[in-house]
Amino acid sequence: MKHGQEFRKIPSIDRLLLAAETATPGRYPHELLVEALRQAVEEIRQAVRAGAGEKIEEAAILSAAEKILKKTEQSRLRRVINATGVVLHTNLGRAPLGQRAIAAVNNVMGGYSTLEYSLETGERGTRYAHVEERICRMTGAEAAIVVNNNAAAVLLTLSALAKDREVLVSRGELVEIGGSFRVPDVMRQSGAALVEVGATNKTHLYDYERAITVNTAAILKVHTSNYRIIGFTSQPETPELANLARDNGLALLEDLGSGTLLPVTAGGYSEPTVRERLEAGVDLVTFSGDKLLGAGQAGIIAGKRQYVELLKKHPLLRAVRIDKLSLAALEGTLLEYLTGDASENLPVLAMLQAEPAALRKKAEQLATELQKCLSAAWRVSVEEMDSQTGGGAFPAVALPGFGVALTCTDLKTDAMEKYLRCRDVPIIARVQSERLLFDVRCLNETDTVDIIDACGAMDADR
Ligand SMILES: *Cc1c(COP(=O)(O)O)cnc(C)c1O
Repeated sequence: MKHGQEFRKIPSIDRLLLAAETATPGRYPHELLVEALRQAVEEIRQAVRAGAGEKIEEAAILSAAEKILKKTEQSRLRRVINATGVVLHTNLGRAPLGQRAIAAVNNVMGGYSTLEYSLETGERGTRYAHVEERICRMTGAEAAIVVNNNAAAVLLTLSALAKDREVLVSRGELVEIGGSFRVPDVMRQSGAALVEVGATNKTHLYDYERAITVNTAAILKVHTSNYRIIGFTSQPETPELANLARDNGLALLEDLGSGTLLPVTAGGYSEPTVRERLEAGVDLVTFSGDKLLGAGQAGIIAGKRQYVELLKKHPLLRAVRIDKLSLAALEGTLLEYLTGDASENLPVLAMLQAEPAALRKKAEQLATELQKCLSAAWRVSVEEMDSQTGGGAFPAVALPGFGVALTCTDLKTDAMEKYLRCRDVPIIARVQSERLLFDVRCLNETDTVDIIDACGAMDADR
């Protein structure tokens, strides 16, 4: 025990406890305080052992404990600033909500609501009624239902319509989304048997036709939302497929992934709207709430009433039901489409369709402010950079935009990236060719102010 002498100076936990309680009476629960003090003492012991020349002082231990407690109190799920330029960043929570959706969530979250209560009859209602009519209006569907997310929407649809039966899917559409959602796996979970038809690049109408047996329940189309097959390719036109399905008593289903309610284009490409797909003859479409639609997590199923009715009665529905906060966000967002100006008021659509000229201006403003607050060790420049849609829409389409590049003579790019990522409001930036990049596409005014503060602090702490 080389450090025994030093360790003897460590005050007892009881004494530390008394000191902490005197300084901030009742601030923390007893158990938590004791645990933090023990941990702080252990940290000091280790520092002494490591020969860091640490002095053992009560004040230092108390302040270390305070830091531990602050960290315990801090939310792990927190706001971050998205300077990556990926608009629908699944790791960063996908779509930011519009003001109307935020107000709708606010309005129901602290109290009671009409979640499953009908004001007309004064009796039990259903949570689906709040949005069904609005979805139908926006898509032309006869009926609709919403669940927890799109993966659940696909699972429920297949379970209700094709359990123990066969479903035909083109080999070019066996999609995997982010490793956790794979069409063949979801199909297996639902109890439906996958029948692959055609080839990866080409599937013909006759491929589907030949694969139909007495046991076939449906044809499933899957939107290749995160990849594109180019070159020598073809898929049958949807109306042809719809005829084939109808003639054989099959349901034509389509997993749209990022279904959009308005025509949205990016880089010369457009994603199919839900209305278009239904008009082309699809019986049921499924899509996400928090992708291009711009709401919170949800899975929407819209189309023919006879099928939606089956889903409404299915026992799995209860297991995948949407919660009231997501439902409120969805209704608020739908109202923006129905009565507001969605492409302006929904952050996702506004960010996707932001003009390069406007982005350049935003980048120039940020660069000017950064130059003002940073010392001579830094180089700040405005640069052209491509952003991405993310979230399974517009795969491989670059959105031309602008951002700010930052370098420093005596701070490595990785260290800068880490510093900004570890702040109370973390800033997630891009690193490219030894430069830190802030793509301005997904930054709002508060974010910009936070980035300027953070960079100032980074300069001072360097
Ligand atoms: C994103 C996506 C899903 C999964 O949707 P979640 O809402 O994340 O569950 C399923 N299918 C396709 C084609 C997708 O793009």
